[in-house]
Amino acid sequence: MGIFAKIAAGEIPSYKCAANDEFYAFLDINPMVKGHTLVIPRREVDYIFDMEDDEIARFQVFAKKVAMAIKAAFPCVKVGEAVLGLEVPHAHIHLVPMQSEKDMNFSAPKLKLSDEEFAAIAAKILAEYEKIAG
Ligand code: 5GP
Repeated sequence: MGIFAKIAAGEIPSYKCAANDEFYAFLDINPMVKGHTLVIPRREVDYIFDMEDDEIARFQVFAKKVAMAIKAAFPCVKVGEAVLGLEVPHAHIHLVPMQSEKDMNFSAPKLKLSDEEFAAIAAKILAEYEKIAG
């Protein structure tokens, strides 16, 4: 099993932001800004565009709810979405609360946050997600 599948299964720790039976969201460990979240299918698939139409549609609907939760927890102009997948071969959507375009610069130095800071950020997003998902 790959690292992100292990994270979704709870075998490797992560800062959980949202979850359902099929998908999982957690904080990127090298965030561009506070609230930078990754959304993944629990099932192992590398390339997002190999996903079946129904699955990718449900994936995007889940990501939308996570984006709404991020925006509620971290007020921003918009939540940006990006898919790269060059580093980890498990499909993942980056969701990034943006104040400006520079917040989506994947080449910029990343934030260094403490365990307590990561935990507090994830708890805020999860609380908002639970209000949205019901
Ligand atoms: P990409 O595949 O989209 O190019 O980059 C992978 C992303 O996953 C990076 O932003 C990196 O910081 C993040 N990442 C890689 N390994 C881990 C991990 O073990 N835990 C978490 N939370 N994020 C990771």
